[in-house]
Amino acid sequence: MQESIVIIGAGQAGAQVAQSLRQGGFAGAIHLLGDEPHPPYQRPPLSKKFLSGETDAEGLWLRPAAFYETQDIGLRTGVQATAIDRTGKTVVLSSGEELAYSKLIIATGTRARAVPLPGSNLPGVLSLRSIADVDHIRKALSAHSRLAVIGAGYIGLEVAAVARAMGKAVTVIEAQDRVLKRVVSPVISAFYEGLHREQGVDLRLNAGVARIEGEAAVTGVRLADGSLVEADLVLIAVGAMPNTELAAAAGLDVEGGILVDASGRTSDPDVYACGDCTRFRSARYGRDVRLESVQNAIDQAKAVAQAILGQPVDYDPLPWFWSDQYHVKLQIAGLSEGYDQTITVGEPAEAKFYVAYLKDGRLIAVDSVNAPRSHMMARRTIGEAWREDLLPPA
Ligand SMILES: Cc1cc2nc3c(=O)[nH]c(=O)nc-3n(C[C@H](O)[C@H](O)[C@H](O)COP(=O)(O)OP(=O)(O)OC[C@H]3O[C@@H](n4cnc5c(N)ncnc54)[C@H](O)[C@@H]3O)c2cc1C
Repeated sequence: MQESIVIIGAGQAGAQVAQSLRQGGFAGAIHLLGDEPHPPYQRPPLSKKFLSGETDAEGLWLRPAAFYETQDIGLRTGVQATAIDRTGKTVVLSSGEELAYSKLIIATGTRARAVPLPGSNLPGVLSLRSIADVDHIRKALSAHSRLAVIGAGYIGLEVAAVARAMGKAVTVIEAQDRVLKRVVSPVISAFYEGLHREQGVDLRLNAGVARIEGEAAVTGVRLADGSLVEADLVLIAVGAMPNTELAAAAGLDVEGGILVDASGRTSDPDVYACGDCTRFRSARYGRDVRLESVQNAIDQAKAVAQAILGQPVDYDPLPWFWSDQYHVKLQIAGLSEGYDQTITVGEPAEAKFYVAYLKDGRLIAVDSVNAPRSHMMARRTIGEAWREDLLPPA
C-alpha cells in the first residue's frame, strides 16, 4: 500500500506538518482534514486586526488555496473526523467515509473554555476562537455599545482594546487581583491595568461573577458582591481547553492534553500529535507543559514531520509568545512560572521596558514591552545558555 498520512485539524500545526512533510520529500498521500469552512489560517489576528476590520478573512490564510493543490496536499475543509480506529488504521469522517492511514497526526487545537454560569446560553454571550466567532462578535458590536469581558487574559484584554478603539463602553471583569496573573509578574500586570484604565476600560479586579442577566438577550453581568455590570454583549474569555476527546476515545494517553514524546509521538507509535492539543515533558522546565502559541504549533509540527521522515528530533523549545493591545506590543520569551526574582529594566511610564525573571540566579524568561530587540536578545540568551548580562531595552 502507498504510504498515506492523515492529519486531523487544518490549523496552524496541521498545515505546517503537511508542508514540512512535502518539503522533506515525503512522496505518499497527505490528507489534511479541517472542520472549519476555511483553508488553514492564523488565529492571532482574530482578536486584533481581524476584529478591528484592518484585515479580511483571506488576509489570515497561511497559504493561498492553490498552494495545497500544487503541493499535492489533499486539503478537505468542512469535514470533521469523528472516530479513529487504531486497529484498522482508519479515520471515520462526518461524511461517513473512512480514510486509511499509515501514520496519523492529530492537530485538533483547543476550544474556548465554557463557564457553567446561569445565563451563559443567552443570545449576546460570546466566545472567541474562530473566524466564525469574530464575524459574530463584529456584527454584535456594530449593533450594541456596551461590552462586558469576563477574564483579563490575553484574548479578553485584546478584545477590550479593539472595542475601546471602536468607541464601545467596555468593562473587564477578573476574578484574580491582577490582570494576566497566570503568565506575568505584578510589574507587567500593573502596566496593563494602567494602560486599559487610561484608555477608558472599567476594570473590575477581585470580581467573581454570579450570573449573566437577561431574558430574551443579555442585559448585564451580576457580580458576586451583588452589583450589576450593564452590558448588551458578554465575551467569555477564561482560557482554552485542548480538543482531546477523539484521542481519548481511541484509547491514546491523554492527561490535560494528548501526551506526546520529544518527537510528537503519542502512546501509539503510528499516531503523532502537535500544537495546542498536546502535552509533553520539557527537560528545560522539568515538568510537563502544554503550550498555546504559534511558536509551538509551528516548531512541534516541524518536529513531527522530521520524526516521520526518519530524522532524529528532540523537541524541547524555548516558548515565545506576543500580545498586541492598543499601541503596545508585549513579547514573552520563556516561561516565568517558578521565578524567585525579577529585574525591571527601562521605564514602564514610557511604555518601553522589560522584566527579566530569574530562578536560582538563572535567567528563565523575559517579558518585553515595546522593546523588540530585548525580546530577540532574550530568546537567544535564554535559548543558548540561560545566563547573560542584562542590557538596557532597545
Ligand atoms: C483569538 C486568539 C488570539 C491568539 N493570539 C496569539 C498570539 O498573539 N500569539 C501566539 O503565539 N498565539 C496566539 N494564539 C494561539 C494560537 O493561535 C494557537 O496556539 C495556534 O493556532 C495553535 O495551532 P493548532 O494547529 O494547534 O490549533 P488550531 O489553530 O486551533 O487548529 C486546530 C484546527 O483543528 C480543527 N479540528 C478540531 N477537531 C477536529 C476534528 N475532529 N476534525 C477536523 N478538524 C478538527 C479546529 O476546528 C481547528 O480548525 C491566539 C489564539 C486565539 C484564538
